[in-house]
Amino acid sequence: MRPYTIPPRMGATGVDVTDRDHRIPRFFTSLHYLQYAILDSVMHELAVTQSMVDLVLDEARKGGARKVKRINLVLGELSGVVGDSVQFYFGLMSKDTIAEGATVSFNTVATQAKCRQCAKVFEVKESNWVCPECHSVSVELVAGNELFVESIEVE
Ligand SMILES: [Zn+2]
Repeated sequence: MRPYTIPPRMGATGVDVTDRDHRIPRFFTSLHYLQYAILDSVMHELAVTQSMVDLVLDEARKGGARKVKRINLVLGELSGVVGDSVQFYFGLMSKDTIAEGATVSFNTVATQAKCRQCAKVFEVKESNWVCPECHSVSVELVAGNELFVESIEVE
């Protein structure tokens, strides 16, 4: 087995999108309509998993792989994606492809914000976006909305 690293397509925080072609699409769920929210969330994971499978198969082919052994996915807390669902859909969608049976590894990224007043970077817990240092509420998201395939391992 040899590692095959996909060239980075997004900034480390996932905020700077440099390549739209391979970005896993993000959809926003409606919080106002529970029914729609549930449907949206199913659609979300379906779409995300489909994009992931397409990307992985595409990259594996480019790398001349016969088999995909492992997919390393980076998942921010705010991405709205449930790992278990991705795992489930992946099992269905990868069937009869060279990615069938691959392990999907989830690297979960905690939500982090940076204070615009004092530049303190802090972890956002329980939706508390107030700077612990100077109590400012003027903060920006620096990590937590990541959603991308970091690398795949093939043979
Ligand atoms: Zn501050």
